[in-house]
Amino acid sequence: EYISVSNLAIALGQKIDIFLSQLEELGFEDVGKENILTGETAALVAQEYGFEPTVDTGEEEDLKARPAAADPSSLPLRPPVVTIMGHVDHGKTTLLDYLRKSSTVAQEHGGITQHIGAFSVSLSGGKQITFLDTPGHAAFLSMRQRGANVTDMVILVVAADDSVMPQTLEALKHARAAKVPIIVAINKVDRPEANVDRVKSDLATNGVEIEDYGGDVQVVCVSGKTGQGMADLEENILLLAEMLDIRAETDGMAEGWVLESTIKPLGRVATVLIKRGTLRPGDFIVAGRVHAKVRSLRNEAGVEIDEAPPGTAVEVLGWKEPPDAGDLVVQAPDESKAKAAVHYRQELHDRGEIISQMAQQEQDRQKRDHERELERIANPPRRRGRHQPAPAPPPPAEDPVAAEDAPPQMTHLNFTIKGDVHGSVEAVAAAILEQGNNEIRPRVLHAAPGQITEWDVEHAAVAGSTIVNFNNTIPGHIKRLAQEQGVPILEHNVIYHLVEEVRERLADALPPLV
Ligand code: GDP
Repeated sequence: EYISVSNLAIALGQKIDIFLSQLEELGFEDVGKENILTGETAALVAQEYGFEPTVDTGEEEDLKARPAAADPSSLPLRPPVVTIMGHVDHGKTTLLDYLRKSSTVAQEHGGITQHIGAFSVSLSGGKQITFLDTPGHAAFLSMRQRGANVTDMVILVVAADDSVMPQTLEALKHARAAKVPIIVAINKVDRPEANVDRVKSDLATNGVEIEDYGGDVQVVCVSGKTGQGMADLEENILLLAEMLDIRAETDGMAEGWVLESTIKPLGRVATVLIKRGTLRPGDFIVAGRVHAKVRSLRNEAGVEIDEAPPGTAVEVLGWKEPPDAGDLVVQAPDESKAKAAVHYRQELHDRGEIISQMAQQEQDRQKRDHERELERIANPPRRRGRHQPAPAPPPPAEDPVAAEDAPPQMTHLNFTIKGDVHGSVEAVAAAILEQGNNEIRPRVLHAAPGQITEWDVEHAAVAGSTIVNFNNTIPGHIKRLAQEQGVPILEHNVIYHLVEEVRERLADALPPLV
């Protein structure tokens, strides 16, 4: 019932380095491929990858992003989501300001009154484009690092009077890494120093296959100042969107990404970019380890709206805690499912932390052992005292001290730790791991907050583990089950006393002296 991280990665069909970084996202820090996970933790991780857990804990629950539709071409089109990137001072903010003025709500409500991280522009024929209005690479990257590919295309802004610059190339690199297509907007063409041809040839030199050179990357000449070419830019975005065939179902459970999260006078708000489905007030949603009953939805003009369809960004009120930017948002069928998912994710996170700490402690311990061993080799122990300079080496075969110091057989005593809260479980695990000597050591197989469950007892029975119950009640049937299965339970609410008892148990478990 134990599995190493690398074997789990293989079992789940994940590449090990990607898997490790994903584990980190789940809250496992500093976990290496050699670390050992308990079956239960492994099952929870597997569940995150959409596998049915083989170990049924009976109490956990999570919401899954829906699988892709069988026939995507039958779905309705949704507005493309666009990010503007480019070198500093090349005009990203100016272009966004220009577009924002022409945005749907700005026209309906006399201007955008608040920044929510994105806005939508309506074009003739009822088509829409959603612009993420945090320019630059940082936002794009931080979302990408969290696995969120929120943007459908990148507008690469290059100033006609400055041409390709370091951050232009960086933006290109990121767009390529994310496999997001680009449209080049050559900006500031109103300036007398503008040199469009130079920009084009510089782009071609850097591997951008632009239309003029026979490639398929569109290039549009614009001016954020005069508005020249801006309608063309929007047309080109729609053209690319058509080619990309961007579609999403409008019904069913909503899904999206958290773009921003802040506290406003109204309470905690987060902007959610809806990816699929339609979000409405009254819906229950989960993002990371927090949930919300959607109290109201507001657009970039601060106006309340009844629904947010795919491809639009909306400010959501009603969060219990602020979610993190980049978090995936998933709708839950009801409040209890939303709460259960949050609970489950919290537990997974806690376990991840405890396992990381245990991994760290194990590493530290190995390092200490190694150093001790080195010291021992350098200064062989003598009866007359370890710290005195060693005299001439004795004949090796007849040294009785060396025989006495030969490494004894190492024994382990297994522990399962349960407790009232995460913090105390952590402290108990740390205190227990401090104990032991070269002959016997404690090993923590599983540590998690909560009451002892049947699962805990059954696994402790199989693994020959002693359960530690810290500062928590034990249900009667669990006590009986433990007795039947012969699983010892140590009950304490003072760490000092607990450690005393653990020491006794360790001493008892030592093989008898001959
Ligand atoms: P960002 O750093 O990429 O966001 O660049 P900004 O939008 O802040 O623009 C940098 C400077 O270039 C500002 O002084 C803008 O007024 C100016 N600028 C931006 N777009 C244009 C344009 O199309 N024409 C001219 N003449 N100036 C522009």
